[in-house]
Order: sequence, then C-alpha cells, then structure tokens
Amino acid sequence: MNYDGNIIRPPSEADSIILQVTVGCSHNRCTFCGAYKDKRFRIRTDEEIAENIAFAARYCIRQHKVFLADGDALILSHKQLVPLFSRIRKELPQVRRISLYGNAKAIRSKSLEELRELKSLGLDRIYMGLESGDDTILRQIHKGETADSMISAGRKVAEAGIFLSVTVLLGLGGLVLSRQHAVATGRVLTEMAPRQIAALTLMPMSGTPLGDAVKNGSFQLPDAVAMLKELREMLTSINCDKVQFMANHASNYLPISGRLGRDKDAILATIDRALSGGIALTPEAYRAL
Ligand code: SF4
Repeated sequence: MNYDGNIIRPPSEADSIILQVTVGCSHNRCTFCGAYKDKRFRIRTDEEIAENIAFAARYCIRQHKVFLADGDALILSHKQLVPLFSRIRKELPQVRRISLYGNAKAIRSKSLEELRELKSLGLDRIYMGLESGDDTILRQIHKGETADSMISAGRKVAEAGIFLSVTVLLGLGGLVLSRQHAVATGRVLTEMAPRQIAALTLMPMSGTPLGDAVKNGSFQLPDAVAMLKELREMLTSINCDKVQFMANHASNYLPISGRLGRDKDAILATIDRALSGGIALTPEAYRAL
C-alpha cells in the first residue's frame, strides 16, 4: 500500500484495510493537534486511489473492513464519494463495512439523503471529534464549531442510520475550566446520543500552540487526579442509554470501559477506588498518544 506520510486511525480499525483518500486534514487548526501539521491537505488522485484499491484486492482479501484516511475523508464531495464507495464494493467484495473520520463541517456539507445513500453503499461508521461541549473551550482550541453545530451534525449522522463514534479530550479546559468542560461535554454527548464515546486524555504536543502554552505556563494542565475527577464529572453528566463508553486509550490514567447507562455506577465506583488510592494509575512514562 502506498501511503503519503504517517497514517492515523482509530484503535478499533486495527484490522481494517487503511485506504488513504485524502492527505492531512482540511481544517488543521486545532491548537492541541499535531497529527497532520507536516501535511498540506490534498485529495489523492484517482490513479493513487486506484493503485491502492488494486493492491488491497490482491493482498488484503481476508480483511472485511475499510477505513478511509486521513483526517476528514468525508470532506470529499458527494460526487467523489459515490464512485469511490461503488468502486470499493466492486473491487473489494469481501468488504462489509467502510468507516472514516468526519468533522462537523464535512457532515454539514452532506444532506441527509446523501448520508443515507453513502450508508446504502457501505458507510457504516463515522468517527467525529467533539473534543469539548463547551463553547469557550471550542473557541480557544480553534475547533471552528459550537456545541450546537456539533449536536446537529451528530444527530444527522444518527438519523441517517450511521454508527456515530464521538471522541472527547480530558484536560482540554485546563485546570481553570475543568469542571465547566466536564459538565458541558456530558450535556452535549447526551444530546448527540452517539453509539460510542471515546474519552482520551490530553498529552500536549510540542510544536502545537497548546503545547507551547503548557511550556510557557499560560495553560495549566490538570494532574492525574484532577483528570480523573474531570472524567467522573463528565460521566455523571452523561445521560445516555446503550452507548459504549471507552476511556482505555494509551493516553488515559485509568483504563475503563463499559456500557452506559448499564455500567455507569460500576465505572464511577472504579474511578472512586482509584481516587482513594485503591487502584494504581498508569505511570506518566507509560502513557502514549
Ligand atoms: S483535531 Fe481533527 S479537525 Fe482538528 S486539526 Fe486535528 S485532525 Fe483536523
């Protein structure tokens, strides 16, 4: 497979064929994100995509899922996505599920009918970065969205019958806005009602505006205990049913996962045990992005 630069994919796409249809992220302005800083956004050419599908048809016949990289493949126009999905179905008949990262702007650019058509062509899952449900924080991190625009984008995905997985980032409000971040994010997640929630923990990257702010002291990162309290507050504020909640990414201090609301009390009890010292937290040296 021919990739342009490093490829980033959700942990649950480890077994997927990773087909890179865009390079970088069309937004690329979030202050905490260094994922695509070295990449100038572009849509890969038909020849590049065709070459990689041909490679997958030959060497990836046991893989049943495709993940379209990079940052926001859904930003491709509907006119580009329909033939791409049709081609995947035709040339990779073993593939049963296609997923991609889609930001709120890309979701907004599609009508409900277009999303439903993509669903009928195999689009099974959209991974969307909410990061925070608080408007002040969304503004500070240059997300280019508001809580309301995130909610309407998320609901549209659900209405189209597509599995919505939403990522949030603990620590993004710093110590000062920690509680505000937790409560607002819990509320927005409740209104979005995704099928899956992934809570990661902020690890400031050098070379990003937020990384620089941590270094010069203008942004105070919550410590491990404060992050855990923030996670507890966020969970308490989420009122969803039949949602997979995961905070077991390598960046997290306490790996937890479960189904909301069924396992909510058990998860909160686990966090309380960790807060009282009964469960060891992941040492700083073992955390990773
Ligand atoms: S967080 Fe997502 S939308 Fe923001 S710059 Fe990174 S890849 Fe792009």
